[in-house]
Amino acid sequence: MRRAPSLDKLPILDALNAARGCIFCELEADDERRIIEDYLRESVMDPEHRSEIETVGLCNSHVYQMLAAGDVLGSAITIGALLRAGINAGLCGHDPYATGAGRRGRLGGPRALGGLRVPAEAMPRFGQSCVFCRALEARARRRTDTFMRLYAESDEFRREFAASRALCVPHGRQLAASAATTRVLRPELHSALVDDVTGVLNTTAAELGLKLDWFIQKHDYRYHDSDWNGSQDAPWEAARFLLGRAGAVNPAQVPEV
Ligand SMILES: [Zn+2]
Ligand SMILES: [Zn+2]
Repeated sequence: MRRAPSLDKLPILDALNAARGCIFCELEADDERRIIEDYLRESVMDPEHRSEIETVGLCNSHVYQMLAAGDVLGSAITIGALLRAGINAGLCGHDPYATGAGRRGRLGGPRALGGLRVPAEAMPRFGQSCVFCRALEARARRRTDTFMRLYAESDEFRREFAASRALCVPHGRQLAASAATTRVLRPELHSALVDDVTGVLNTTAAELGLKLDWFIQKHDYRYHDSDWNGSQDAPWEAARFLLGRAGAVNPAQVPEV
């Protein structure tokens, strides 16, 4: 009798079965929604958590996602704390956005200030890092480990993954890079995983290329009445494949915390 998969594996298996594009992008979007909702519901009144937000900060995109989550009081308290932290750090000391804020500019930091080296202790952290991004990155690392365990343990999972369209290019590259360093995989599975990732990316790219061709052709009046053949969303699908979901940081650019 087959053992039921452990709870941490289920989201990956479900996402793979649902076949809606990159499983890592999909699960990361779920995590992001949950992290912000949980914070607003449970942690916003917790002084310790708020002080972490004041010290570490929130990035541009997560501030706006928090505002859009609908808890205006929780958002107001949080933004008030950020505002105080900004005033304490000195709003005019430097332009926190010059290095790019949070997840879209994580390569910023002391060394990135126009080549000017500023001592770390003189740098207010406001606007340069993000509590939610850190939580997301930690979950993403755990998810990669779980994926590796599934890949190591199950022929069936390896077959389903290889036949899927379950990756975007940034997550595919990240997975291929992790294959070389993970201790979870037997050595012979390292190259098998890289081959499978390459296969999934190449097949998906070829299919998206055909969809885009047809999308473009459909704009010629002669094809006006022809069927879309599932290519209505081709530019968006291809963009998500090439770049990952909107607002996502390129995982290859996330430094270790
Ligand atoms: Zn992805
Ligand atoms: Zn963030």
